[in-house]
Amino acid sequence: MATTGQCPWCGGTDFVEAKHMPYQNIAPESSTLALVGRGDLRYTVCRDCGTIVRTYVSDVAKVRRWR
Ligand SMILES: [Zn+2]
Repeated sequence: MATTGQCPWCGGTDFVEAKHMPYQNIAPESSTLALVGRGDLRYTVCRDCGTIVRTYVSDVAKVRRWR
């Protein structure tokens, strides 16, 4: 697990990576056709209290093309 650090809520250090299931993706606001350039959301979740400590898009290369 690459995640380091502490949960801001409970101080826990045990995290798990999670993702949205299909159809709950993120797209740039400029996107008119939702199928283009969509990225998958990923989360880092504290195993101790369930807090999502990080939300990010898995495909950074895709994000860098967004305008
Ligand atoms: Zn926690």
